[in-house]
Amino acid sequence: MLEIVDVDLPGRAYQVRIGTGLLERAGAEIAPLLSRPKVAIITDETVAALHLDALRAGLAAEGIAADALSLPAGEATKAWGPLQHCVSWLLDQHVERGDIVIALGGGVIGDLAGFAAAILRRGVRFVQMPTSLLAQVDSSVGGKTGINASQGKNLIGAFHQPSLVLADIGVLGTLEPRDFLAGYGEVVKYGLLGDAAFFEWLETQGPSLAAGDMAARVEAVRWSVQMKADIVTRDEKEHGDRALLNLGHTFGHALEAATGYSDRLLHGEGVAIGCALAFELSSRLGLCAQEDPSRVRAHLKAMGMKTDIADIPGDLPDAEGLLHLMGQDKKVVQGTLRFILARGIGTAFITSDVPGEAVRGVLRDALAGRG
Ligand code: NAD
Repeated sequence: MLEIVDVDLPGRAYQVRIGTGLLERAGAEIAPLLSRPKVAIITDETVAALHLDALRAGLAAEGIAADALSLPAGEATKAWGPLQHCVSWLLDQHVERGDIVIALGGGVIGDLAGFAAAILRRGVRFVQMPTSLLAQVDSSVGGKTGINASQGKNLIGAFHQPSLVLADIGVLGTLEPRDFLAGYGEVVKYGLLGDAAFFEWLETQGPSLAAGDMAARVEAVRWSVQMKADIVTRDEKEHGDRALLNLGHTFGHALEAATGYSDRLLHGEGVAIGCALAFELSSRLGLCAQEDPSRVRAHLKAMGMKTDIADIPGDLPDAEGLLHLMGQDKKVVQGTLRFILARGIGTAFITSDVPGEAVRGVLRDALAGRG
């Protein structure tokens, strides 16, 4: 089972290869990119314990030597300290301009290792081997790399496209169910923002996909990556259309900030709740049908996902507090908040023209548990 999506960026085109057994075949997949039979792998401790041996064996089968650095798992690793550690380790391994760095892990490792590769010797090539569903459908494709600052998430970084993405669907089997479903939040996002047929497909296939159906998982990743590749090819640096990928993120980021980026709410969970809120807002503004937000929430609920603000454990700020956090979002341009709203399922658009009172109303009712 192998699907290939081309990311056709002029001068920086690459393939996303999606299927099973890619870890074991990594040597053969990567060998054509190498100037010498040696790679450096950056991973996290959780993923290393589960999958590093298989990758090493796959590389060794083609005579490729591999050094590996395992960093602590979790968002705290996307920071200056681990970045410095990573870059200095790569220099100690004598990684040269012509070499390849492999990022083996979820979005945290992909963003960190990609950024390290971007700044090492003014840029070395890297291969993304995403191991979480979120990383396979989103963060490994499109070239956004970086770390967090104390002032906010993802505020330091660079656009640096990978040379190849190998998404081994088999490794998703070891993900904690909660992490899998959080990644699924991003999958649903693609259907909602740009493809009603994909959302419909997810409504029927979602449960078997979550239960482990490999063919359905490959198809969901392929569909998502194809949509991301199309958008990134049109707008690599987010001057326009790429912002559509932020559907659910303006609400989601505020909720993540309100919960201190803690275990109370994972990124993908915030995105899922945020998508439901964006549809609720769109419906109240008369942009989409009243049934649309209910349909979005019904699917999230059917998947056993967090759907409403009320599903977040613990206390939250009031509507005003959340609105303030939304104002800290990266998508604020000259003080105006940009929203991704929808005219229906599969037809999202970008707008700055949203009355604050409508947003406040949606938040107030959501906080009161009224949808
Ligand atoms: P993550 O990398 O922290 O992975 C989540 C958890 O799953 C970690 O504990 C990790 O060790 C574990 N894990 C990963 N693969 C596993 C596997 N196969 N088996 C068992 N455990 C596994 O987080 P994530 O959800 O993958 O990514 C979130 C990050 O991605 C955030 O930092 C976010 O900002 C970033 N992101 C970046 C982009 C982009 O375009 N660059 C897009 C979306 C999100």
